Amino acid sequence: MTATDADLGLPSGSRDASKARRAALDPARPGEKCRAPVARWEPAVDRNKCEGKSDCVDVCPYSVFELGTLTDSEFAALTTLGRLKARRHELRTSRTPRAEACRACGLCVVACPEDAITLVARP
Ligand code: SF4
Ligand code: SF4
Repeated sequence: MTATDADLGLPSGSRDASKARRAALDPARPGEKCRAPVARWEPAVDRNKCEGKSDCVDVCPYSVFELGTLTDSEFAALTTLGRLKARRHELRTSRTPRAEACRACGLCVVACPEDAITLVARP
């Protein structure tokens, strides 16, 4: 029997439903499957790893992410390898303007092809 979205802890709202479902089935998915109260967790993006590929934007059911461009100070803070990657990807990076909406579904963590996202407890 195929697991339903409810079985998987997968709410509607993802921009790419099939990508979100693949992420929901990943056994490495961390978090609380969207059962966390809002504002307990938030995603942290490692800018040295992020290549602005937007999978996080596609799968997040709560529109936490948007793509942006590295600022001069963010670029200056990168490692040498991070700067090389950033130039190759036209300085695109993921931002979390709605971090407080995160429900710790964990989809972004496993969807990111660069392993750039972790869930961290909010202060
Ligand atoms: S954090 Fe990962 S999934 Fe999100 S834009 Fe960066 S590389 Fe892509
Ligand atoms: S863990 Fe949070 S930020 Fe990541 S996809 Fe789920 S709700 Fe969005």
